Amino acid sequence: MSEKNRGAVIKKMGELLRSGAVMLDQACPLCGTPLFKLKSGEIVCPVHGTVRVVRSESEAISVTTSAVLDELEKFIAQRIFQILSRIKTLEDIEVSDVDLLNRLLDSLERIRRIKKL
Ligand SMILES: [Zn+2]
Repeated sequence: MSEKNRGAVIKKMGELLRSGAVMLDQACPLCGTPLFKLKSGEIVCPVHGTVRVVRSESEAISVTTSAVLDELEKFIAQRIFQILSRIKTLEDIEVSDVDLLNRLLDSLERIRRIKKL
């Protein structure tokens, strides 16, 4: 976490405490930051906002895995977009670009299939 992000998180924690939220002894499964319980009973992470509190290790793993898959999906979609933008400015499409696009699309398809499991 960068200095700037850490500052923002600490500021957010301060705001939560001032609003009457209570710091819990549980940490966010995604980032490890302490969780807070709002007056409404909602559990929030200062970084991620509302989080689902997990009760077992396997549940924690599945929450983390789905966050990783989301990130990966976003990354691949961005790469495909970058390649398409570059190809559009060229006269000919390189075989290597087509190969790469195919592989990225395969990965994207695989991620979406895993997410449905
Ligand atoms: Zn978090």
